[in-house]
Amino acid sequence: MSFKHDKEYRHPFENDPFGVIWTAFRNLWPDADCTVGWDGGIRDEHGEPVAGSTVFEDGVVPHVAVNPSLEVWDATEVLAHELAHVAVGIDEQHGEKWRAAFDAIHVEYDRLVQEEHSDGEMQTKETHGVKLNGGAKP
Ligand SMILES: [Zn+2]
Repeated sequence: MSFKHDKEYRHPFENDPFGVIWTAFRNLWPDADCTVGWDGGIRDEHGEPVAGSTVFEDGVVPHVAVNPSLEVWDATEVLAHELAHVAVGIDEQHGEKWRAAFDAIHVEYDRLVQEEHSDGEMQTKETHGVKLNGGAKP
């Protein structure tokens, strides 16, 4: 599924790891740019499904795609992986510069999360749980 939108959607999560990764990326490379989307159909050169990809095309900002079938934490890691590619460019592959960029995103991510937590712990007074299979707890 793919769609274009021209308005910015707000997301409801207060602790959205994708937002933190994106902020880390923008803090580290304010001039780097890309589009990011979920794409369940991304495949490698052999036609096998992959977790993420970055497409570099002349004259267009790179496009990062992340497979929505991943667990949230895995998808967060994949987004960081792909944004490191955007930061250093396609020629770098998974070389030293890419590794340094990937590590820098993690360090900045941790700093941002730490900063957030130092603002005070959130108190939860009442919770409503939903089981992993989608059913509500009694
Ligand atoms: Zn890669």
